[in-house]
Amino acid sequence: PYDVLVIGGGPAGAAAAIYSARKGIRTGVVAERFGGQVADTMAIENFISVKETDGPKLVAGLEQHVLDYDVDVMKTQKAVRLEKKEFVEIELENGAILKSKSVVLATGARWREMNVPGEQEYRNKGVAYCPHCDGPIFKGKKTAVIGGGNSGIEAAIDLAGIVEHVTVLEFGDTLRADAVLVKKAQSLPNVTIIKNAMTTEVLGDGQKVIGLKYTDRTTDESHLVDVAGIFVQIGLVPNSEFLKDTLQLTNRGEIVINGHGETSLPGVFAAGDVTTAPYKQIIISMGSGATAALGAFDYLIRN
Ligand code: FAD
Repeated sequence: PYDVLVIGGGPAGAAAAIYSARKGIRTGVVAERFGGQVADTMAIENFISVKETDGPKLVAGLEQHVLDYDVDVMKTQKAVRLEKKEFVEIELENGAILKSKSVVLATGARWREMNVPGEQEYRNKGVAYCPHCDGPIFKGKKTAVIGGGNSGIEAAIDLAGIVEHVTVLEFGDTLRADAVLVKKAQSLPNVTIIKNAMTTEVLGDGQKVIGLKYTDRTTDESHLVDVAGIFVQIGLVPNSEFLKDTLQLTNRGEIVINGHGETSLPGVFAAGDVTTAPYKQIIISMGSGATAALGAFDYLIRN
């Protein structure tokens, strides 16, 4: 068996693998797509000590660093089941079963998409999902936020300090965000909130976003909003479906962890965007990957 088997090859998984391998213990990584969300990212400007990089470059760096150590990297392999027997067993989609004394789950998350025409075409060309990451790109420009939950209203407040104007489009007839956030957003002169708005299309000029179309659900009328940026904030979905019924998840599907990266199942640790760790960022995922690996090492020397 492995000593530590890491599931996921994003920033959290890569950090967990390196920290484990540096203890001289038998380490493996299973990754459906090495690099994870970073592979889909254009400019990265908040990875501290690296002023500016891009997704593919950072992914290449992650992989090189992992391969520098004695780690079994199993790419394009998907975990479909976890079971705790004498060892922790991970079943792959191809039927193979891997055994390990401890496991670090770092399967990340994916942004829920609007599924409207133009969204895919203009992804990274005005359609964005992470205000902490891409907000400054739209400095002085008009933007929209799709979604009036906590993340949408937080995004609007955040963006209002950077961009010219923010239009929030909420599908329902009420905002689902906390009252204190709604009050704050409503007090800002450059934030407009529109309810009962169903976004129907992302408009672009072939190169970049120039606006969006929405339907007012109360009148069925279609409207145009001129914006350079559209932040989609309708949910981050953890990649934890295969873990249902095996360990404790929140109602949103996040793996519940403590400060040592421990899950509810002894010997099983988790890190990064798939967990309850707040704020989903590269640098934070790497830190939690390191924590989970050290937590796993602690577990191994005690068991
Ligand atoms: P992920 O990066 O999601 O990686 C998950 C890994 O697990 C992948 O290798 C995946 O293939 C694998 N996996 C999933 N399910 C399975 C399975 N069943 N079996 C095997 N493997 C599996 N953050 C910043 O700090 N700065 C930015 O500028 C920035 N920009 C972003 C731009 C975009 C478009 C997006 C989508 C995100 C951005 N983020 C940014 C957020 C950042 O990418 C994430 O917080 C970070 O990648 C999370 O790391 P992770 O390792 O937890 O998960």
